[in-house]
Amino acid sequence: MAGGNSSLTPAPGCLYVVATPIGNLSDISERARSILEKVDLIACEDTRTTGALLLKLGLKNKLVSHHERNEKESSAGIVARLLGGESVGLVSDAGTPCISDPGFRLVRECRRQGIPVSPIPGPTAATALLSVSGLPSNGFLFVGFLPPKKSARQRFLQEKKAFEYSIILYESCHRIEKMLDDILTILGSSRQVCVGRELTKKFETIITGPIGEVVDRLSRSSKKGEFVVIIAPETYEL
Ligand code: SAM
Repeated sequence: MAGGNSSLTPAPGCLYVVATPIGNLSDISERARSILEKVDLIACEDTRTTGALLLKLGLKNKLVSHHERNEKESSAGIVARLLGGESVGLVSDAGTPCISDPGFRLVRECRRQGIPVSPIPGPTAATALLSVSGLPSNGFLFVGFLPPKKSARQRFLQEKKAFEYSIILYESCHRIEKMLDDILTILGSSRQVCVGRELTKKFETIITGPIGEVVDRLSRSSKKGEFVVIIAPETYEL
């Protein structure tokens, strides 16, 4: 079922999955702005973060909390409001909801109940980096965050050693060095990678090359902020 997807005005009873900036406020789209202003309700990961975003955009709207820990219970309330004819915008703290962020359970429940769900597409860190990486982009595997345990991370990398497409991973500043060390250990120093830090922000940094060199260069630069890592297929050569 379609869901008012050509309009700047929300359709009654429709859930809009709205992408918001991953750092640069100007990356908000005209449709995102309009839908966030006009929906009856915004379901968001953190009401303070989304409240601050709305303030910067000069918008006002009602917010309800919808995060990983209450997603199951809060989905029921949101679905009831959608069935009652209200329009709802779903946002996460940054980027596209459901992409390593809450939202999947709510969207699945809407699909089960025949409630229209419409995308308001925009930034996502994974494809932002892929588009500038120069690594093969004909197909890719997006994994989000690898497991925090070293043994599980290394097992994943071992299993995917000969994977034929690029692999995109998310990582926090706390674990980035450990994760890159695992890539070096398991995939070897000549595997091509691209590391993106603080994309669209003031200190945006993009480093590409063999993992051995990238680890070396990164050891001499700041590790603060958010990271995306892309691993090229084994067969890829510059
Ligand atoms: N929903 C988001 C998206 O669409 O990209 C991802 C949310 S996830 C909880 C947060 C992770 O995304 C960060 O730890 C980092 O790996 C990645 N990320 C988000 N914004 C980023 C940015 N501006 N630069 C680099 N990585 C970013």
